[in-house]
Amino acid sequence: MPDRIALLDLTYAQLRELLTSWGEPSFRADQVWGWLYRSLVSDFNQMRNLPKELRARLGEAAYLQTLTPLTERVSADGLTRKVLFALRDGETIESVFMRYERRRTVCVSTQVGCPVGCPFCATGQSGFRRNLTAGEIVEQVLHFARMVKFTHQSPSAPFSPQVRGEGMGERGPDSLITNVVLMGMGEPLLNYEATWQAIETLNDAKGFGLGTRRITLSTVGVVPGIRRLSREKLQVGLAVSLHAPTDRLRDKLVPLNRRYPLRRLMAACRDYVQNTGRRVTFEYALMEGINDSPEQAQRLGRLLQDALLKVGCPCHVNLIPLNPTIGSPYQPSSRKMALAFQRELERQRIPTTMRVGRGIDIQAGCGQLRGKI
Ligand code: SAH
Ligand code: SF4
Repeated sequence: MPDRIALLDLTYAQLRELLTSWGEPSFRADQVWGWLYRSLVSDFNQMRNLPKELRARLGEAAYLQTLTPLTERVSADGLTRKVLFALRDGETIESVFMRYERRRTVCVSTQVGCPVGCPFCATGQSGFRRNLTAGEIVEQVLHFARMVKFTHQSPSAPFSPQVRGEGMGERGPDSLITNVVLMGMGEPLLNYEATWQAIETLNDAKGFGLGTRRITLSTVGVVPGIRRLSREKLQVGLAVSLHAPTDRLRDKLVPLNRRYPLRRLMAACRDYVQNTGRRVTFEYALMEGINDSPEQAQRLGRLLQDALLKVGCPCHVNLIPLNPTIGSPYQPSSRKMALAFQRELERQRIPTTMRVGRGIDIQAGCGQLRGKI
């Protein structure tokens, strides 16, 4: 018997082709797509308007579920949940769901492990196993969308009025999940095809309908990938993990910098802003005694001024307190150093935010829960 098809791995066009090759009318593809990405069903038998024979055939030839939740941790305030999923081949990945006042954000993984190997990152330290498929990326979002839709699960925080009592009537599934960030395990631009297909699937107006403005991709700086992104029709938010203002330091913290040094990275970011009209966010994890001195803040400010701001390209720096990982010598900066760093950037008129550590009590940092199992 041929291998069963992972239905979530299909694009809309591929689904249509499959169903028409079975002799089905073309509107069946719309129906199945709607069940998957609007009604969020996880079983063919729930696809009520399909003929029974078609449901049976789908059940024989294809499957829906690629992820099995193994462990879930909920932060003490109930606002952050992190799930460890098993994939069908036994590999594991993590995804995080964060509830804010007006947003429900899912942070998804794009690879099992990561080949880049940044020394401060739990995922980077765990090595690389394989790329995720588009379906495995999308299903992480569907998991939390179903959780919000079907269980209204909210251990301590009440649901906001827009969500309470919300069936799936007039509002689309995108309102269950308002933002998706590709900031979990792995480097999305080293798994470009599957990542991009997942973004297109989540964005599709016939299905999940999540606007590209509400999707952010975080990269460590894969220059050809950034250039390819800037030529896409859909334009997502771009975050670049910088962590150092000089090549010397960045070569150590982000080994891929040896291949794509700062000069090339900044040129690619500039082109991205010019082609898409969207600003770039730079992520900077503050590590005590490594990258947090006032001189380093000054150099970072100059780098961004010269490469971007002076040529009219807006950018933004997101300062992140490092989440210490087991076995790594890197420690978070003190609050005093962090604030001084931020002040220097602001003095140079670089817009900044300081990210609040979210879910530290549940090892919500990249790759940390997986390392525990
Ligand atoms: N590979 C991509 C996306 C996944 S990592 C990238 O590196 O951008 C998502 C973010 O988490 C990156 O900004 C990364 O630098 C950051 N990160 C990884 N380990 C961390 C840690 N221990 N503390 C704080 N941030 C961390
Ligand atoms: Fe990979 Fe990003 Fe972790 Fe670096 S920080 S090892 S690129 S996941």
